[in-house]
Amino acid sequence: MSQPITTPLPAKRASRWNSPYDGGGLQPLVNVFLTQPAYSRICVHSVSDMKNEVGGILVGQWCLDENREQFVVIEHALPARHTRQGSVYLTFTQDSLVDIHDQIDANYKGQKIVGWYHTHPSMGVFLSHYDTWLHSNFFPEPWQVALVVEPVSATGGFFIRQRQGTLDPNRYFGFYELDGNYGRSMVYWNNLRQLEEEKGNAAK
Ligand SMILES: [Zn+2]
Repeated sequence: MSQPITTPLPAKRASRWNSPYDGGGLQPLVNVFLTQPAYSRICVHSVSDMKNEVGGILVGQWCLDENREQFVVIEHALPARHTRQGSVYLTFTQDSLVDIHDQIDANYKGQKIVGWYHTHPSMGVFLSHYDTWLHSNFFPEPWQVALVVEPVSATGGFFIRQRQGTLDPNRYFGFYELDGNYGRSMVYWNNLRQLEEEKGNAAK
């Protein structure tokens, strides 16, 4: 059985980025903490193809804080090597999932697949019917998340199941940027807004 790690929120080093839908009455089951190296890896991969979808796996920890609230820490992004690429869909083939499990065992022992990411060049930030199907079949844990990046408009957001289990395919959430860069943010997605006042204070 998969169990979360109980640990305090890494809030002191985190800076909150909100989407337009954060605080709009939605109740995401988990908060997402994203390390700067993982963010940077995702961005480099995302802009590497401005026409076709690319994607990969998000690796890290599933955690519980002192108040038994769940959060995930995304420490690594692994570009999928064997995806079928097209302009409107992307498939994680059997090969790529086997490959990813091998990579995690070899390099990131003890970490989990906390979700996946893919791009929507010139299409916007949402989950298609196919994306929603893929998420529920390949990433069925309630705490697993889906990140969509739109490299042309430089936007992005996380799709996170709500507490009652539903997943809204149109309303996405922001994240906490985990600082490793001496206080300098790396986030440049222009649909997210940094909450200065919440720096160092992981609010609900
Ligand atoms: Zn998609």
